[in-house]
Amino acid sequence: MINGNWGHCQHCRYFASLARIPLAGEEARCLQPELSRYDLKVFGASGCKAFELRQGLSKEVEEPTAAPHLSM
Ligand code: SF4
Repeated sequence: MINGNWGHCQHCRYFASLARIPLAGEEARCLQPELSRYDLKVFGASGCKAFELRQGLSKEVEEPTAAPHLSM
């Protein structure tokens, strides 16, 4: 059953990229056990609630960043 937290594919352990740190524009298969039957190809910028953090990345990569400050 999928009940994890939402996260981006590029930071997910199921994103079938050979890159150590996949990029947002990269396309790869989703190997999540419940979703793999659909043979999904997803972009790094995509995401879902079956997300699990990719090995070697810190959880801070999925924390929202503050909006850039605009000076006038
Ligand atoms: S679709 Fe979900 S489970 Fe599959 S790689 Fe993206 S975030 Fe991970």
